[in-house]
Amino acid sequence: MPNPSYDLVIIGAGPGGYVAAIRAAQLGLNVACIDKNAQLGGTCLRVGCIPSKALLESSHLYEKTSHELGVHGIKVKDVSLDLSAMLKRKDKVVTTLSGGISGLFRKNKVTHYAGTGSINADKTVTVTDEAGNTRVVTARNVLIATGSRPASIPGIDLSLDKVDTSTEALSYDAPPKHLAVIGGGYIGLEIGSVWRRLGSRVTVLEYLDRVLPGMDAELARHAHKVFARQGIEFKLKSRVVGVQSDKQGVTIQRDGDEPVKADRVLVAVGRAPNTEGLGVEAVGVERDDRGYITVDADYRTSVENIYAIGDVIPTSMLAHVAEEEGVACVEKIATGYGHVDYGVIPAVVFTDPEIASVGRSESDLKDEAHEYKKGVFNFRGNGRAHAIEQADGFVKVLADKKTDRVLGVHIIGPDAGSLIAECASAMQYGATAEDIYRTCHAHPTLSEAVKEAALAVDGRVIHG
Ligand code: NAD
Repeated sequence: MPNPSYDLVIIGAGPGGYVAAIRAAQLGLNVACIDKNAQLGGTCLRVGCIPSKALLESSHLYEKTSHELGVHGIKVKDVSLDLSAMLKRKDKVVTTLSGGISGLFRKNKVTHYAGTGSINADKTVTVTDEAGNTRVVTARNVLIATGSRPASIPGIDLSLDKVDTSTEALSYDAPPKHLAVIGGGYIGLEIGSVWRRLGSRVTVLEYLDRVLPGMDAELARHAHKVFARQGIEFKLKSRVVGVQSDKQGVTIQRDGDEPVKADRVLVAVGRAPNTEGLGVEAVGVERDDRGYITVDADYRTSVENIYAIGDVIPTSMLAHVAEEEGVACVEKIATGYGHVDYGVIPAVVFTDPEIASVGRSESDLKDEAHEYKKGVFNFRGNGRAHAIEQADGFVKVLADKKTDRVLGVHIIGPDAGSLIAECASAMQYGATAEDIYRTCHAHPTLSEAVKEAALAVDGRVIHG
């Protein structure tokens, strides 16, 4: 029997790969998608974005119910935690959504192969299933979308007991008494927040003198203050150089500082691209010195008809970036046109309050000597924020000094992750701050804070 043959074979069914598969099928390509995990959806759905958001929601409700309902005149007694039920709900969310992707594959006639995909020298792809059975498929085009895994640093062995990555930290069977977190980035703050709310003492050890590197510094400073107030301990300027684990717990060595002892440690120092075992060496796909696959503007690797998107290429390691890249890549293959605007990528940290950014930060603009105007509006001037008892935080709009075109928006406050979408749309359409404030925003909504920050750019804020 000849090998099954496809227009496009995608390796990896995370948000990059599965979305690319569906879009390619919509465009009339005959598509197969290979994933070694029975559950489709990749890291994002299985052990990343979705389960962490499920736990952030549950832990938020637990904390609110335990301590914050009194202010609304609601008295609650005997609140207790059923962690195993909480984890089961999280797992059910994952199972439901993963099953949804299988359904979408069927609907769009995407063929799914369960197994590990590896590219051969003749550019066919071998799929090896769990039992070791192999099958070869022929592809006119191959798209690598194999994502990433938690990275470590020298001196830390992730296989040690009590030395965890985000994967294990989403499934602890009891809140650790003292959880140390290495890295004050997205994962450290989100998962650190979950366990603090569920009763753990949480200490974040961060190499830099600030949290959330890459995000606007004013936003990060406010975030640091709020999380410290909530009870997370921060040890900034802590360069972790090693971790030991024994029966009692873990000892974390810091460069030039006394060690920190804890019951467990979560290592959240970034992620590394998954390119091993893919056969990229065999076909000669080039990688950079950090292991990322190098691609051109159309996601073409150094080998003809082999493409790569998402966390395996050196762009932001965000699920929505992978999705955009997957769509652009297959649209380019099928129609000759596909594009991602990397200047308008929203980034969201799903803590409480949420933190969200799009476009340039103030330090970017200063570095670029770009003259800008700044409008800031505090949520304490927003009626809805008071009504929901979440009036902490602010919206900051940065606009070009001469043209008023919006260059960046940075938000810390209630529902920042949703509010940033309006700002990204505005930027995508080349809006000015005036375009935002001349757009009618419904009252009473949190989105009025965005409008007011845009008004503040012009010095004509109403409620501030
Ligand atoms: P990150 O890059 O956000 O943060 C890593 C932190 O570790 C940095 O602050 C860095 O300075 C610090 N660090 C590095 N080496 C250190 C050392 N030796 N000692 C102390 N600190 C050290 O990475 P992450 O939080 O692991 O997240 C990984 C990726 O996953 C990110 O790229 C992020 O884009 C993605 N992610 C996104 C979301 C979201 O969109 N909400 C959530 C989770 C993860």
